Amino acid sequence: MLLAALPAAEWGRVRRNLKQVFMPFGDVLYEPAMPISHIYFPTTSVISISRVMTDGHTDAVTLIGCEGCASVEVCLGGDSAPCRAVVLSEGWGYQIKCDLLNQGEYGQGGSMHSVLLRYAQSYITQVAQTSVCNRHHSIDQQLCRWLLMFLDCQSSNDLALTHEHIAELMGVRRESVTEAAIRLQIAGSIRYSRGHISVVERTGLEARACECYGIAKRETDRLLEISRRYTNMAAAQVGAADRRASRANAYNLSV
Ligand SMILES: [Zn+2]
Repeated sequence: MLLAALPAAEWGRVRRNLKQVFMPFGDVLYEPAMPISHIYFPTTSVISISRVMTDGHTDAVTLIGCEGCASVEVCLGGDSAPCRAVVLSEGWGYQIKCDLLNQGEYGQGGSMHSVLLRYAQSYITQVAQTSVCNRHHSIDQQLCRWLLMFLDCQSSNDLALTHEHIAELMGVRRESVTEAAIRLQIAGSIRYSRGHISVVERTGLEARACECYGIAKRETDRLLEISRRYTNMAAAQVGAADRRASRANAYNLSV
């Protein structure tokens, strides 16, 4: 989970305000321009974030799994988002009330503030890359990118996705997705049956995906690594302070 990058002491305080929730498939977490009451941190669930057109057409801009949260807009000070958030793959996660987030560690500018702002940067990169990808890259390349993004959101190689779900995500015709998926199956990268896609050869998807996947993935990994490095530094500082305190206590007891 994204908050695993917090120092242990801060995580302990944040944990008290988190509620573990099961997130069923298709659950709408928030709609465009509606007030947002909770922020969600998926652990085993996957959330899709989509733009909604006035004619009802939707295009996904990114996916959120165990290394993200929804909504980023609230973390940046807003009270609503311009997108729809829907549970794409059911599973577990944590939720926190927005007012508790702002009154707690996040509002006080601790490590949680830095971790969530770095995640916001990675989210912006994902959304921007999707915009470029939709315009410049083939359906086959986009399909590989979305499958890889979905894989990164969960621990299994089995994706509970039908061709209809993928077509909705990508904002393209289902037939186009089916044709691209057949090509991937013939190439030995995926296997599709009964509404499930099994990724057989991830490297095959990586080789066929456009540059957009790698650009966004490297930026996400880089920012997460910075958060983890700060956490380790904070833990080392706490450890050093504890050792100094224990040496002082031992000296005081000996005199
Ligand atoms: Zn692309």
